Amino acid sequence: MPSADILKKSARLWLPVIVGVIVTAGSLVLWSFLIAQERANIERTVRLKITALSENIHDQTEGRIMGLVRMAKRWEVHGKPLENEWDSDAVLYVTHYAGYKALLWVDPSLHARWVAPLKGNEEEMNRALGLEEGLRAAFFAAFERREAIVSKAVISRGGGKVFMAAVPIFRGARFEGFIVGVFKARELLDDILRRESGRGFSFAVLNAGEEIYGQYGANIGEGNNWAQEHSINVYGAQWRVRLWPQEGALAGLQTPLPKVVLAAGLLTSLLLALVTYFYQTANERARAAETANSELAAEVVVRKRAEEEIEKHASELARSNAELEQFAYVASHDLQEPLRIVVGYVQLLSRRYRGKLDGDADEFITFAVDGATRMQTLINDILVYPRVGKVKEYRPVDCKEVLERTLVNLQVSIKENDALVTQDPLPTVVADASQLEHLFMNLIGNAIKYRSSDPPRVHVSALQKADEWLFSVKDNGIGIDPRHSERIFAIFQRLHGKGEYPGTGIGLAICRKVVEARGGRIWVESRPGNGSTFYFTMPNKESEA
Ligand code: ADP
Repeated sequence: MPSADILKKSARLWLPVIVGVIVTAGSLVLWSFLIAQERANIERTVRLKITALSENIHDQTEGRIMGLVRMAKRWEVHGKPLENEWDSDAVLYVTHYAGYKALLWVDPSLHARWVAPLKGNEEEMNRALGLEEGLRAAFFAAFERREAIVSKAVISRGGGKVFMAAVPIFRGARFEGFIVGVFKARELLDDILRRESGRGFSFAVLNAGEEIYGQYGANIGEGNNWAQEHSINVYGAQWRVRLWPQEGALAGLQTPLPKVVLAAGLLTSLLLALVTYFYQTANERARAAETANSELAAEVVVRKRAEEEIEKHASELARSNAELEQFAYVASHDLQEPLRIVVGYVQLLSRRYRGKLDGDADEFITFAVDGATRMQTLINDILVYPRVGKVKEYRPVDCKEVLERTLVNLQVSIKENDALVTQDPLPTVVADASQLEHLFMNLIGNAIKYRSSDPPRVHVSALQKADEWLFSVKDNGIGIDPRHSERIFAIFQRLHGKGEYPGTGIGLAICRKVVEARGGRIWVESRPGNGSTFYFTMPNKESEA
């Protein structure tokens, strides 16, 4: 059934597809889990790094500013120092710590009065800081809160970004100005972060959205996607640190494991699907083979039984044939005697009383003689038939001689019909001479008997083939309709009534028996009105005798 076939085929496909999909899904889940793990790991690393970096910036910057706070505190406790004392103290600071541009004392009117070092910072002297946008706010905040305040970074006059840290000085309630540190953002952060370079991370420090410091690797690459930001509050100034891994560091954090797992998973799913498919196909084939085998076995059993049955029937048939033959033989044989008496006396009647009784009696006697004689021929033929083919030993027989004998036997008929029998050279074959004579007798006899209006012309020839002789007996008689070319070889089969041609219908059956007993074949080729050619074969090897 085709629909069952389709079902089977789709079942064969479904299972491998399901197996493939499940394993693929499993490897995708594992892959995404590993990717998530890796992502979390990178993020954690970046976070730790940025936190440490931010704390470092915060602590060190605060450390610098704490120096200024201490200076302001000393002022508050001991009173305003002498300018040169302050100056040497301040110069010490500026030179000792990197990142300072200058240290200033700014008086309450927000003018820078002391500048250390003066050299290079001359423009700071008496600078009216309160007039400067951005700085003024920081000074006010420091004053208000009475604590240090860091200003927004601005571009300095010499270029480069600077910011100021202003620490207010209060002697009791009296306000005496500010200690102000002017820091060069780049130098300061460079000093703080010098040791960070070459550690695989790029970072930048921004103040109010503008970069005040940056340290980048050679290649920013996709590491930028991993950037994180962290805010630091340095005495009121909001700085943002932005940090991301450089390509090399990123490669170190990423492993090929997820990709390998995914590839291996996909490959495994494909392999498993294929294995499942082939396993199923093999299984199905094995099952089909098993079914075919068992069917075959059943068939063998059935065939064997049938063969046994046939054998049984054949032996039964052979037995009943033998019985029948025996019966026919005995009956015919026993009929011969009374028949001979009947024929003898009817012939006697015919001889003695023909012409002496009335016309009817003469006719009756003729019929009786005819019938009785025909019966004798029939019985003789019936007696011959079973004996044909039962030959103990075949010997080489010269066909020429056999044919000569046959023609002698047929001479009356030949003469009566004005027939001419011609022949090609004939071979010696291994056969039974008397049976071969029966064969020629019947074939040549028929060729003359079934003559046309022309005088019979019969030709006998033999042709040597690979391993047999092909004999032919050709006549110019009435011919045979090809429809009957098989039937005429069966016993008692005649194509004509007794009135037309005499005969018993046994002749060709005897011919066939003789030929087939020798392993040959016999057949006829003919057309009505065109004469007939009877062919038969005889083995040409003595060994087959
Ligand atoms: P019969 O005793 O009738 O001759 P056969 O067995 O010899 O019996 O022949 C069977 C039938 O075959 C014949 O009745 C005849 O019709 C046909 N037959 C045989 N030989 C020839 C022949 N040479 N030409 C035409 N018909 C033939």
